[in-house]
Amino acid sequence: MSGLLQFKGKKMFASLGFLFAILSIARCVPVQQAASRDKVLLVSFDGFRWNYDQDVDTPNLDAMAAEGVKARYMTPAFVTLTSPCHFTLLTGKYLENHGVIHNMWFNTSTGVKMPYYVTQGINSWWDNGSLPIWITAQRQGLKTGSIYFPGGRAKYQGEEVNMKIVEPPIFNYSNETNWRQNIDTVMEWFTVNNLDFIALYFGEPDSTGHKYGPESEQRKAMVSQVDRTIGYLRQRIRESGLEPNLNLIITSDHGMETVIKTNEIHIQTVENFTFSDIQFELLDYGPNGLLIPKEGKLEHVYSVLKNAHPKLHVYKKEEFPKRFHYANNPRITPLLMYSDPGYVIHGRFKVQFNKGEHGFDNEAMNMKTIFRAVGPAFKQGLLAEPFESVNVYALLCELLGIVPEPHDGSLEVLKPLLRECPADGCGNTDI
Ligand SMILES: [Zn+2]
Repeated sequence: MSGLLQFKGKKMFASLGFLFAILSIARCVPVQQAASRDKVLLVSFDGFRWNYDQDVDTPNLDAMAAEGVKARYMTPAFVTLTSPCHFTLLTGKYLENHGVIHNMWFNTSTGVKMPYYVTQGINSWWDNGSLPIWITAQRQGLKTGSIYFPGGRAKYQGEEVNMKIVEPPIFNYSNETNWRQNIDTVMEWFTVNNLDFIALYFGEPDSTGHKYGPESEQRKAMVSQVDRTIGYLRQRIRESGLEPNLNLIITSDHGMETVIKTNEIHIQTVENFTFSDIQFELLDYGPNGLLIPKEGKLEHVYSVLKNAHPKLHVYKKEEFPKRFHYANNPRITPLLMYSDPGYVIHGRFKVQFNKGEHGFDNEAMNMKTIFRAVGPAFKQGLLAEPFESVNVYALLCELLGIVPEPHDGSLEVLKPLLRECPADGCGNTDI
């Protein structure tokens, strides 16, 4: 009884008769519904640059902004790659603190490297001391799900997300029919399986941005497809009766930059440099590179690469700029490099042919991405100032009413996005 009063308690005790009326209604309502907390759907459209809605008609994104919150842009973590930046959303930590420092798994002793898809299934790459929000929520009694979300395939301290769908190895990320099927699955998981939190991932407009470039007509068409999908998603939320108690966040991992094809950075051609001085290298992956020189060769390799190209920045691990929150991790090699926006780093051979790329400095405007939110917890029609993605985790925990793990963000940064909360906390269902 006292629990019920505390739970419902705000402005409804006008009379004892009203109280009895509530109690009699409450008896007819399933306990779980009476005590339900608001649900959260976290959606990521990979590689959605912050300004992709400015040269395409996006009526559904616009409607969502009018009814909820839109950040001017969001600053991702560095390096601006898919798995690392999604793991920042899930943990609230910078890369050097969550350890997922690249899309690729690698072993510096054997030289073996695994691509993005395979790396999704290597538990030890993900499970290295930080828990994603799925596991934290489940330990606190919630039920969670993941559809294609980076990090969703791995086990963490032996635990995994309650319900998940994993994409097959060969997969067309742009199939709109599949997108709608996944949205229908999300609705089922919320309404039939009563999940509290689901993370839903789409591989576009990243793929199209890579292939055709961020300024292409193909990218614009893909943004239209994303907008239609958001329209479908919100329609299904309404039809499923979820609108009053579902907080929807639509965000992404990084932006996209047009690749410059002149005066390219090609490590093989650098004067006085030879790969025979290198024990391990991870190059040919956009604008980022990791190097381990052979014993006694570090100073030499460093000195010949340091001023090799005006757009290339080479550092010893301990001298890498602290603002990136990247290099202070055991997985980072003794030498590392990154290049200026537009320039990718070629290693032994030129094998990168994309017209669009990411991975660049997270302060570059074309690496900035989107953050939109709508639902009972969020203000309406708010254009929010930019913030770092490392803060999103604390917001998710607040929305779900769970205690966060230690993280690098702050709830205070995103509190201005939320409606005023009643004294007994946000997220309680009103009658
Ligand atoms: Zn990505």
